[in-house]
Amino acid sequence: MNSIEKIEEFAKENYVPIARKETLEYIKKIFKENNYKSFLEIGTAIGYTCINVALIDPSIRILTLEYEEKRFNIAKENIKDFKVENQIQQVYGDARFFYPDLYYDVIFIDAAKKRNKYFLDKFSKRLNNFGTIIIDNMNLDDLWVDAKKEKKEKYDLVNKEFKEYILTLKDYEVNIYDDIGDGIAVLKRKY
Ligand code: SAH
Ligand code: MG
Repeated sequence: MNSIEKIEEFAKENYVPIARKETLEYIKKIFKENNYKSFLEIGTAIGYTCINVALIDPSIRILTLEYEEKRFNIAKENIKDFKVENQIQQVYGDARFFYPDLYYDVIFIDAAKKRNKYFLDKFSKRLNNFGTIIIDNMNLDDLWVDAKKEKKEKYDLVNKEFKEYILTLKDYEVNIYDDIGDGIAVLKRKY
């Protein structure tokens, strides 16, 4: 897919939960405002967000993790189509068992919501000074979840507990923006 619109269309037709427009705009905004240069993404899906981030500036470096083979391969094609493969390192595998070597300016946690706490605790160790952690889908109203009421209730509880947890973190300034996409949490370390 060689246009952003085509990726958006594909995502919609195939129920791939790519980031919402406002969420992506927020990520772009903080990259520009802070002159951020690196991005760690947990959950690549088909490459929508990481391609958009790469396109902000050619000096931005990205590591993105995905454990669904089909999506990993579609993302690979998309990344090639946009000619940003020199900026994006893709890792195929379960993020639970992956330990990055480097530090990142922005860490975007956008994988299985029940693992948010685990991923936050683990990957926050890889945040650069003055970096930002963003957690997507805090209110999770993705289409496939809407279809199943029980599942939605379960996820609502998971998200509620996670919200309560991040609000206890003393080392971070925590903001939850319910009005951006289906809700994002933004964490910055206190100094
Ligand atoms: N960040 C993407 C959308 C990600 S959707 C974007 O905005 O464009 C969430 C993705 O996380 C799914 O593709 C799912 O397969 C992946 N995922 C969920 N749990 C994972 C894990 N433990 N390790 C790696 N990928 C995971
Ligand atoms: Mg998401």
